[in-house]
Amino acid sequence: MRRPLIAGNWKMNKTVTESIEFAKGFIEAVKDVTDRDIMIAPPFTSIYPMAEVLKGSNVYLGAQNMYFEEKGAFTGEVSPIMLKDAGCKFVILGHSERRYIFGETDELINKKVLSAVSHELIPVLCVGELLEERELGKTFEVVERQLSEGLKGVPESAEFVIAYEPVWAIGTGKTATPQLAEEIHSFLREKLTELYGKSKADSVRILYGGSVKPENVEGLMAMKNIDGALVGGASLKVDSFEKIVKFG
Ligand code: 13P
Repeated sequence: MRRPLIAGNWKMNKTVTESIEFAKGFIEAVKDVTDRDIMIAPPFTSIYPMAEVLKGSNVYLGAQNMYFEEKGAFTGEVSPIMLKDAGCKFVILGHSERRYIFGETDELINKKVLSAVSHELIPVLCVGELLEERELGKTFEVVERQLSEGLKGVPESAEFVIAYEPVWAIGTGKTATPQLAEEIHSFLREKLTELYGKSKADSVRILYGGSVKPENVEGLMAMKNIDGALVGGASLKVDSFEKIVKFG
């Protein structure tokens, strides 16, 4: 029912040359994949050159962040109009690195989510608890707040994706077990049901992120409420990302 989405978040990695080289090899590797969506979020500098290479392929582009205004005196920021124009379909918002390294708040992230949907970009809203929050038993409280604050004012008609990324599992090699991830995913779907009703909640894709690799993707994707993956490190090499995309 929900079409899986496998997304690569390259973070601050790859030059334009490296990105184009990856894109050329990758479209060949995944050209026969038709039953799932594939997305790559490269750094801003690689979006447009990659869009040229990916034209007509089954690989969508996303951005890793954006500002909510359309244009103006916002030095260093990139707008939704620019992202659409450069070839993006998705935009990752509220990634834990944005929250904890760059100080983004739920309020700012909500403005970005609203701006993305109003410009017909599909936001991938990231939620996830810190290790200390998990140890204090606050996981549900934290992800519920990040979800409901992030989606405040977002209409049912808008397409959006949620990504659950426990911060302690990002880049650490520690993946949440499929059961532990599923517990949070099913909780998030319950909360979406409270916010939007069952039919919308059943249609929203909830991705898992945090040390996803070819070796653990099968177990995660077998879970009822895990609809895809948001992959960091393992999306940087064609062969490992290809294996993840071709799970099952
Ligand atoms: P890793 O897959 O490198 O743990 O990164 C996960 C992530 O943050 C994706 O957004």
